Amino acid sequence: MKNLWAPWRKEFILGPREEGCIFCKLAKKKDDRNNLILYRGRHNYIILNRYPYNNGHLMVIPYKHTKDLAKLKPAEQAEMLELAGLSIKALEKTMFPQGHNLGINLGAAGGAGIRDHLHLHVVPRWVGDTNWMPVLGETKTMIEYLWETYDRLAPAVAKLTKRRA
Ligand SMILES: [Zn+2]
Repeated sequence: MKNLWAPWRKEFILGPREEGCIFCKLAKKKDDRNNLILYRGRHNYIILNRYPYNNGHLMVIPYKHTKDLAKLKPAEQAEMLELAGLSIKALEKTMFPQGHNLGINLGAAGGAGIRDHLHLHVVPRWVGDTNWMPVLGETKTMIEYLWETYDRLAPAVAKLTKRRA
């Protein structure tokens, strides 16, 4: 993913760190749209990344606060992957990416921004996205784009998860 130039991420990298775990806090908040939460599963939730590498960059995050993949129960791990698959489907239906990067960054050397609470990145990719993303390179533009993306993705996710129950 490091070949994507994402200057708006510097706000995240250089910005003040909040007290406590942001992923645990987000899970407890009520206003899902405001917090960019697309779906709440039994063990994991799907959220758009506020500091994306690419438009449509989302994350599947377990409710359990751990940095250790092995600490997740099989059902929790399975749902994490299931929701990643569902996210890919929703992205494909709404944003027509030509590929994806999926990944979990573990530890400081692994490049994890939030190290104590693991999260699975789903990053849609388009051929040439490294060329057009800088056009949207202003943080403000990207932030406005986030809720536009949310409103496109949310109905697709809702439709897909209805079948899941
Ligand atoms: Zn946490």
